[in-house]
Amino acid sequence: MKIMVSACLLGENCKYNGGNNYSEKVAAFIQGHEVIPVCPECLGGLPTPRIPSEIVKGVVTNREGQIVDAEFRKGAAIALDIALREKPDVVVLQSRSPSCGCREIYDGTFSRRKIPGQGIFAEQVMKHGFRVIDLEEL
Ligand code: SF4
Repeated sequence: MKIMVSACLLGENCKYNGGNNYSEKVAAFIQGHEVIPVCPECLGGLPTPRIPSEIVKGVVTNREGQIVDAEFRKGAAIALDIALREKPDVVVLQSRSPSCGCREIYDGTFSRRKIPGQGIFAEQVMKHGFRVIDLEEL
């Protein structure tokens, strides 16, 4: 099986704070399979570490009020192109990220409140019919 994975879940230090979201569950799940790591925010040219962002009224904005929507959308488009080329059987995504969240995201108020919804990349990859799994569903 071919599995596309949010790179931070594999231990890549691409998270906004310079760390990662390494997951033993993901490591076990991908064992013996072909893995395609992607970090849409890095692909969009954003630095690591970076100021955390949320989707504010449909526009990705960082906590300091700077609009980073273009970078997020560019990175999502590049990651989607990789998915369309590689055709993964499943895409495993980090929960609640404004790029990768596929079930819930933060509500845009930077107060840790969650709402149902998708990050920019997750929305695209789901729209194209890929099977997605949120980390918390593994
Ligand atoms: S964009 Fe996705 S892969 Fe990159 S750090 Fe955020 S959750 Fe992880």
